[in-house]
Amino acid sequence: HFIVFEGGEGCGKTTQLRQIQQWLQQHPGLPPSADGGSRAIVATREPGGTHLGAGLRQLLLAANSQEPMVDRAELLLYMADRAQHVEGCLQPWLAKGAIILCDRYTDSTVAYQGYGRGFSLDLIQQLNQIATAGLESHLTLWLDVEVEVGLARIQQRGAADRMEQATLNFHQRVRQGFQELAAAHPQRIVRIDASASITAVTQQIQGILTPYLHQ
Ligand code: C5P
Ligand code: MG
Repeated sequence: HFIVFEGGEGCGKTTQLRQIQQWLQQHPGLPPSADGGSRAIVATREPGGTHLGAGLRQLLLAANSQEPMVDRAELLLYMADRAQHVEGCLQPWLAKGAIILCDRYTDSTVAYQGYGRGFSLDLIQQLNQIATAGLESHLTLWLDVEVEVGLARIQQRGAADRMEQATLNFHQRVRQGFQELAAAHPQRIVRIDASASITAVTQQIQGILTPYLHQ
């Protein structure tokens, strides 16, 4: 299973991914993999799920006022990260029957670089096709929270990456992107109300994953 956690700034993806990873590791009733062995639970992320990706992540998140990154370079670096991740991590683990929990994937690029930066959605779809070699998520959990609420959470924890300097309007376009993606792919993308408490959000996700993993 290839399960992706998506959403805007401060939606709690990373926190929830860890909670669900722990829960799955302690979950006795998981169906075994095809070879009868126990299933590996693999947590990974984009950008940064491979050695190359970790380097790209640093480049992507550092702000450089001397030489601001141009949008096309940003887009292509995300795609390079994805190509390496699909080939070097996602495909090999899926072939072993693992359950993969991935922090961001193709929908983030549509939302941030498409809706946020204004690249054509067709172009992004083509690049995603090249980067993924056709690998789509099986289930995408979109953790949706109002932009102001998410940004306030980030301010509180004091994280400071390049994207925090983007405007409120940018982040609103990103959210709209996720909204439209969810409407267009109702089978694959499930909206989670991420404005609730950490425990309540985890419970919502468990409620979706329990029947999903046993189907
Ligand atoms: O840890 P997290 O996934 O939130 O960090 C990734 C950062 O990269 C975020 O600040 C997000 O805004 C940004 N990003 C982006 N375009 C993407 C994916 C992530 O600008 N396609
Ligand atoms: Mg994060």
